[in-house]
Amino acid sequence: MELHDKERKDSLYYKRLYEGIKKFQTNEFIPRQQFFEDLGHKQNPHTLFIGCSDSRVVPSLITQTFPGELFVVRNIANLIPFYKKHSDTYLATTAAIEYAVNQMNVSNIIVCGHSNCGGCAALYQDKELKNLPHTRKWMELAHPVKKIVEEKIAKNKITLEQRSLITEQLNIVEQMGHLLKYSYIKKRVKDGNINVMGWYYNIEKGEIYNYDEKLKRFIRLE
Ligand SMILES: [Zn+2]
Repeated sequence: MELHDKERKDSLYYKRLYEGIKKFQTNEFIPRQQFFEDLGHKQNPHTLFIGCSDSRVVPSLITQTFPGELFVVRNIANLIPFYKKHSDTYLATTAAIEYAVNQMNVSNIIVCGHSNCGGCAALYQDKELKNLPHTRKWMELAHPVKKIVEEKIAKNKITLEQRSLITEQLNIVEQMGHLLKYSYIKKRVKDGNINVMGWYYNIEKGEIYNYDEKLKRFIRLE
């Protein structure tokens, strides 16, 4: 029974994807054929968007941008590896940042976190991460945040209920810090050639908050 249900579900979802392609071709591609033909030759994105892999975070939807505008990197909890000049391993996020900045010359970088982030929550769920060794390793990049938040809770500066929000927001600031240690980004920021922003996306309210460096808090973008 269970398997039957699973098969039914799988075939339904496949159908949904297939129907989506047909809908895209009819409703989006055909009316904008010239746009896609021009776009096919080259891309010239103005912004590198680093967001969470979470299925609810859709960069082009929340910014209402067209194909060709955002160079997108998504990974669990929108993390940024520590800067290394060279590497002997396969660093997808690092390579995408390097390509967007040094090859595509983007003007903006957005590090976008979001509400109810499973990756951030997993920082406090060691048991659940036992069978997810790659996720556990990856989340080490947010360990400084976990440490700060746990100290705040221990000192009663924040409540347990505030833990998710504070972790998600501090994580954005932490990852911006990682990014600003990349030598070529540091230089471009200093020269005024790139703008690094930290966004917090509240999914249920449809609100985006921008990190204000001076005020040290997130301000709603309206
Ligand atoms: Zn997330």
